[in-house]
Amino acid sequence: MPFANIVHDDKLYLADGDLAICSAAADDGTTTVFRVHKAVMAHNSPVFRGMFGLPAAPAAQDCYDGASLVRVTDTAEELRALLDALYNPGALNVTRWDPDAPLALTPAMRLAKKYEVDALAQRIAALLTESWPQTLKQWLRSHAEYTVLAHVCASYDPLLTDGAQLWAQVPEPGAAVRFARAFDVPALLPFAYYTLARTRVGVDWAQFAAAPDEHVARPVRWGALSPEDFVRVMHGREVLGTEVAALQAWAAPASLRALLQPLRCVRANRAECSKHIVALSEMLQAAFTDTNSVQCPDPLGALEKMHGDRDHWPVCPRCAETLETEIRNRQAMLWCGLRKTFQLP
Ligand SMILES: [Zn+2]
Repeated sequence: MPFANIVHDDKLYLADGDLAICSAAADDGTTTVFRVHKAVMAHNSPVFRGMFGLPAAPAAQDCYDGASLVRVTDTAEELRALLDALYNPGALNVTRWDPDAPLALTPAMRLAKKYEVDALAQRIAALLTESWPQTLKQWLRSHAEYTVLAHVCASYDPLLTDGAQLWAQVPEPGAAVRFARAFDVPALLPFAYYTLARTRVGVDWAQFAAAPDEHVARPVRWGALSPEDFVRVMHGREVLGTEVAALQAWAAPASLRALLQPLRCVRANRAECSKHIVALSEMLQAAFTDTNSVQCPDPLGALEKMHGDRDHWPVCPRCAETLETEIRNRQAMLWCGLRKTFQLP
């Protein structure tokens, strides 16, 4: 092969390597050579194992600097990501909730899939899954964390926030959805779609990152979505909007009166709790604001806000317990329905 415009990778050109892997040429014509070990590649990848098991075809007899040479069509960036992950246990460190994590992990994931490095592909998928809750319990935790983080960021206290704004510290759903689709990681989808469905369209990530606006909580990489994704998000938004409308009706005095059966009430004067139903209803209705309405529906969040006020409900402990149970049941039903809400199989 012509050895013009060749560079050795800074880190992964190992002196005792017996396998040279040559990247595709970059735009400037430069190819990068990595020097690693056949045994490591064969151990991790059935594709490489198969390559070495073949009777030596003339092309496979190429040598470079004393090592067997393999030419691939992958970019140097992709190869570096794959080999770094195989050789350096710390290479895959991404911060949980890092909004750029799906982009950062894409080169390694692409080659992990291509070369069937299954353990690595699973590890990468697991890293991203940590940012997108899989169960209601996980959602409750991450919602509590998000709420505290939003509060801290709103305080603009540089000691607590390091000057970083909320949007730069929470996972971004557009890139997550694109990653999930490209690499078949369906676990990311339900809550990433939910997050999209409750976010106003129109504030794009790139535009926002160039000129942040403190009134926008969460810009999204809308351009990462396919037409099919948009249809699912729009469908989900309609369903969730209906859920929010149903919740508003549920939190009305008549419906609460029916729920809090006087026979279960522990107050000596059982009419006492019923007297406060209107005040209770007003308190629950406060969960619906302009950022949580039929247009930007977040029924899970609205129910959680209601639940968070439970110490102030003007009813007896037994009635409060009935209401708490009902709120958790409704959240569980919403959570179980998410796949259907977004037309996922
Ligand atoms: Zn009561």
